[in-house]
Amino acid sequence: MASPLDICVVGSVALDDVETPAGKADNAVGGAAVYFSLSASYFTKVRLVGVAGRDFPRQTIALLRKRKVDLEGLDITSGSTFRWRGSYLKDLNQAETLQTELNVFETFQPKLPESYRDAKIVFLANINPELQLDVLRQVRSPRFVAMDTMNLWIDIARPTLEKALKKVDLICINEGEARQLSGESQLPLAAQRILKMGPGAVVIKRGEYGANLFTKDRTFFAQPAYPLEIVRDPTGAGDSFAGGLIGSLAKERSFSDAALKRALVWGSVMGSFVVEQFSIGGTARIPPAKLRRRFADFARFTRL
Ligand code: AMP
Repeated sequence: MASPLDICVVGSVALDDVETPAGKADNAVGGAAVYFSLSASYFTKVRLVGVAGRDFPRQTIALLRKRKVDLEGLDITSGSTFRWRGSYLKDLNQAETLQTELNVFETFQPKLPESYRDAKIVFLANINPELQLDVLRQVRSPRFVAMDTMNLWIDIARPTLEKALKKVDLICINEGEARQLSGESQLPLAAQRILKMGPGAVVIKRGEYGANLFTKDRTFFAQPAYPLEIVRDPTGAGDSFAGGLIGSLAKERSFSDAALKRALVWGSVMGSFVVEQFSIGGTARIPPAKLRRRFADFARFTRL
């Protein structure tokens, strides 16, 4: 089998304080790039671009290295790591941001090491769309580019976000953001509007209700979430989902609608593991047999 395509991811590296109905975690490792990298590392080689302060835990660096994540593009600099404080007490499907401290993230200018510039797949996690475009200027000839975004950028940087949308093959966003970006409340119509903005595929994440795929070729696929009885911490669900989704495409070396459907299942597998534990506890080490079993469960759940 041909080797999987490698992925370059750019995004936040964070320390989070999170409260959920199941408890709380302070100073917990987070950040979109970290969640994404760990998740995608079960499928292929991931090259991370981000910034952290010297307070970022060494054990996490060691864990990422152990999972063969390339950290040459992770700048560890003097100052404090980006901090996010959030709560899921009101709604498990929607984080309420209580506080953000940008710290070293404030002046982050992604710089791709030479060895990253030939990456065939790029994932632009949720960061300022100006920086997303900057990353795209640095990669040479990617075969597939995917992005995420958030309400903040839709509010304050729509023109730049629309420029980025023209350059990507897939956008992976949550339900509320899809409605906000498109101005449409019905998801199929929202997806059609977003497809017209550029990407060939739109993946809409719907928390415990799963995820929907819409493509330019009019493919529609509805993927349920794993019926978990306990969700301890939803933080990182979206990025771990994206890691499984993009990781699966990288492993298959295909971006066809059929490959995208399978990728949605893998996204759901990875999302289901991460929310079972606080922080990165759920995706730090997953035995391969456990991954395969959960994929098989999904196949069973969705067969008539
Ligand atoms: P999600 O997969 O959407 O739950 O992403 C969760 C991660 O996003 C958390 O670990 C946060 O540290 C990170 N995060 C929260 N707000 C921002 C932001 N404004 N920019 C970048 N990352 C953020």
